[in-house]
Amino acid sequence: MKKLLIIVLIVIAGVFAARDLSKKSFVLYYHNVDGYKSGLRSVYIQPFMFDLQMKYLKLRGYRTISFEEMIEALRQNVTPPKKTFVITFDDGYKNNFKRALPILNKYGFTATVFVAVNEIGKTLAHERTYPEARMSSKEIKEISKYWSIGSHTMNHKNVASLRYQDLKYELCESKKSLEKLTEKKVNMFCYPMGRFDDDVKNMAKKAGYIGACTTHSGLIIKRTDVYEIPRVEWKGVESFSFINYWDLKWFFLKIFLGV
Ligand SMILES: [Zn+2]
Repeated sequence: MKKLLIIVLIVIAGVFAARDLSKKSFVLYYHNVDGYKSGLRSVYIQPFMFDLQMKYLKLRGYRTISFEEMIEALRQNVTPPKKTFVITFDDGYKNNFKRALPILNKYGFTATVFVAVNEIGKTLAHERTYPEARMSSKEIKEISKYWSIGSHTMNHKNVASLRYQDLKYELCESKKSLEKLTEKKVNMFCYPMGRFDDDVKNMAKKAGYIGACTTHSGLIIKRTDVYEIPRVEWKGVESFSFINYWDLKWFFLKIFLGV
């Protein structure tokens, strides 16, 4: 009798969790889609692991939407459509073009890639990372036929420490030059290294961005601040860490339940 009660309680809790999680959406977040070379391991995912993750989401009936669609829903204080999500890539690595684009095309998924203008076409490292090649202007133009291009500033600086004029330059000038390059509107911004404060958020609004991504971990709910979008860094098993996986428990439960 006691066992039966426990089972009934677990089922009820499961139904409530599923109902709650089905109202939430998520934004995935990656850097390099390539074999690990050196430096910070967490900024790499093996192409076959990335493919497997996308295949799983496709098989469970998830589909990607554009940031514009997600932000529009949040502005109206409603949750994005059920079983939809957004994919993002930070820094604009060449391997996004070579490896990730064909995989996403295979599953009919789209994404947003955040580019730092003065890094275009270069091979360089950020703090603790291995020097990796960035997409060329030509590749960015080509990828913009499939994905959205977002701004990741001009110089990938910590914008939270900049004076007004420099902050304005990093946010406004990058938007302008990426729009010139792609001949499309650049609507989204991503805070380099996840650093931001109220001044940066205000500048993002003033510059005309409709939303901005952080490196905070979490799911999208209808009350999510569009200038503080949390993301899920779904790492490969090669960079497994208990803390990271525990952080993502609601995400894993959501996609496990397929809601
Ligand atoms: Zn970055």
